[in-house]
Amino acid sequence: MSTEASVDEFLLLILSSPSGAGKTTLCGKLRADLPRLRFSVSHTTRKPRPNELDGREYHFVDRARFEAMIEAGAFAEWAEVHGNLYGTAVSEITRAKAEHAQGVIFDIDYQGARQIKACFPDAVGVFILPPSLEELERRLRGRGTEDEPTTLRRLQAARREIAHYGFFDYVIVNDRLDEAYLRLRGVVAAESSRRHRWARLCESLLLGPEPATRIASG
Ligand code: ADP
Ligand code: 5GP
Repeated sequence: MSTEASVDEFLLLILSSPSGAGKTTLCGKLRADLPRLRFSVSHTTRKPRPNELDGREYHFVDRARFEAMIEAGAFAEWAEVHGNLYGTAVSEITRAKAEHAQGVIFDIDYQGARQIKACFPDAVGVFILPPSLEELERRLRGRGTEDEPTTLRRLQAARREIAHYGFFDYVIVNDRLDEAYLRLRGVVAAESSRRHRWARLCESLLLGPEPATRIASG
């Protein structure tokens, strides 16, 4: 897919973490705070949880539909995670650009993060860590959304996922939620201010006559 718009102010923000570390919670705060960042709604073959709405948390599809979308080249990235297929449709990114959003937030795993980074090298990867594996287990169980086999599978995957931390630009430990959120907000502020995102504006300000010249000739 085209990387044409990768060098401008549009921010591609990837949030990844082991299941239960608090990525959805942090993401929710960011979305409420910065409505001009569009949340990428992934497709998944996972069954919806009771509190989830089709089209809001995910587009819930069956495996046949998902595989047809892979065939059609509809995904910017996709991966098998915890036994289900998850993918980001290309249209999530193109629509955000068409709507002049400030950027897109992806809640995806490290495999998806790698694929997005391959297409958009200036995408920003943030890895959310729990303060400990014990606390991760407490949070995952406390959330109460998974049955026991799924909970165990997700906990067993945590170390394998943390092993990919080196792939991300930032690591945020989600111990106290408010502190972790401030750090995440800081990453967004700093990354949005990177020089290359504003090069076009700088260059456009350098074109045209000097203000003083305009006054003198006016
Ligand atoms: P993820 O999206 O990474 O799987 P969630 O955002 O669903 O994780 O968080 C898992 C559980 O932990 C939720 O019940 C959430 O309310 C809770 N949680 C998130 N952050 C914190 C935190 N800093 N301290 C305590 N509990 C938290
Ligand atoms: P959950 O089932 O808890 O919503 O998500 C499980 C895992 O799948 C999380 O690590 C989440 O980030 C990841 N995930 C969600 N959507 C996508 C996606 O579109 N692509 C990839 N690669 N991973 C995703």
